[in-house]
Amino acid sequence: MPDIILEIAQRFHAAKYSIHIVGGTVRDSLLGRTVTPDTDLTTDATPDIIKDIIAPTHPRAVSSVGERFGTVQIHYDDPTASESDPDKTIILEITTFRSEQYLSDSRKPDVVFGNNLEEDLLRRDFTINAMAMDPLTGSIIDPFGGKIDLEAKIIRAVGNAPKERFAEDPLRMLRAVRFAAQLGFTIESSTAKAIQSEAHTLQKISWERIRDEMCKILLSPRPAIGLRLAAELGLAQYFMPEMIYLQGVHQRPGHSKDVFEHTMRVVQNSPATLTSRWAALLHDIAKPRTYSNENGQVHFFGHEDIGAIMAKDILRRLHFDKPFIEKISKIVKMHMRVNAYIPDWTDGAVRRMMLDAGEALPELLTLSRADITSYRQDKILRASALSAELDERCRKLREESERVPIKSPLDGNELMQIFSRQPGPWIKEIKEHLLSLVIDGALAPDDKEEAQRIADELLHNLPQSKSTPNVN
Ligand code: ATP
Ligand code: MG
Repeated sequence: MPDIILEIAQRFHAAKYSIHIVGGTVRDSLLGRTVTPDTDLTTDATPDIIKDIIAPTHPRAVSSVGERFGTVQIHYDDPTASESDPDKTIILEITTFRSEQYLSDSRKPDVVFGNNLEEDLLRRDFTINAMAMDPLTGSIIDPFGGKIDLEAKIIRAVGNAPKERFAEDPLRMLRAVRFAAQLGFTIESSTAKAIQSEAHTLQKISWERIRDEMCKILLSPRPAIGLRLAAELGLAQYFMPEMIYLQGVHQRPGHSKDVFEHTMRVVQNSPATLTSRWAALLHDIAKPRTYSNENGQVHFFGHEDIGAIMAKDILRRLHFDKPFIEKISKIVKMHMRVNAYIPDWTDGAVRRMMLDAGEALPELLTLSRADITSYRQDKILRASALSAELDERCRKLREESERVPIKSPLDGNELMQIFSRQPGPWIKEIKEHLLSLVIDGALAPDDKEEAQRIADELLHNLPQSKSTPNVN
């Protein structure tokens, strides 16, 4: 525990106020999970008093966000910050008990204080998140059996009326799924039933809050568990029905794995980055829409193009930023091209693919690898070998292009000078032709002499209307 928390706890005690660590930090420390730099604390002191007490501790910043709810956010420089991460910050959020029965002048008796802490914990979402810890003694306050549920790996709503708890804040339903994915826990049955019956109320929640939980599910160690739960409990249909439609769509007649199961495996196979996992989730999203069956042959013609459009729709709906949307859409659009790789591809074909992929190339290659979900060992080996070969060729060509960048050996100015011509559309035409020869490996990017010879030949063949007449 950071020293600053101990110092703050001592100051609160000296001023005769209580202070406890609450929420995720308590849960994670009992689990032995890496504790995040953010720590939530709760106290009977009001925000003004909180600020007075922490004033002498030299915080880097104090903000009053959420003060309406009694929250003060405090930033400290992290003494464990390293040269590589000098801006490491400890963030503390201290919240005044959330209790209607809070009486400022009856702090003394333990009972009243105990009630207040308990009421604060009662308002939290799940028993494993509703424990408090005294920072000075390390003792745990656990009125709802959070420790037992932690040991049993169970996510259970606080109190006896889970439906009401979800009605208070429907996002809690998706949080339950998120914790299941992050921690590998099971959602207790009456809590799960309540989610099923209240799932429709998720429609009241902002797209941003849903997006953030979805991202946490995708980044977790068990994204497929989270996505399956979101589908089974009836939540997904309210924010991403397209994912549900993948169920029951089979890649081959009588083939056991449907597109949903295939997608779950690809997501699980992908590295835990937002780009890779979202691309995996959306790569086959248009298969239900493009399904066709001709005499027992199943096709998904153009699913990558329609999928690229659908991916944009879905990510826009969830209010992602434009560069992210464009990148995922490009990966979806190009994934079949990469999957179609065979060793016969010329360097030119590989270079073209690399140029089209741009900065999405690494994730595109990763997706192609994750997309191998066959149960047949021989197929897996063959596909993995191809994927590794393409990876290696891209690596070599990238190194090469770092030494000599892929571009036309002559730029517009040089062309105008050499041929004494005015600027005009002819420049683009010639440059594109020269560039395409460079991409194909037929012309070195620094071979100006050969480029001039080719350009000269081309200029003679250009129709008069397209070329601009000589200056003189
Ligand atoms: P993490 O920070 O790892 O995402 P966390 O449990 O700390 O997990 P936060 O969103 O930081 O989650 O919230 C801190 C605590 O506040 C939770 O542990 C929980 O006790 C409470 N809490 C958060 N959101 C809600 C909510 N929607 N309803 C009820 N209690 C909540
Ligand atoms: Mg937290």
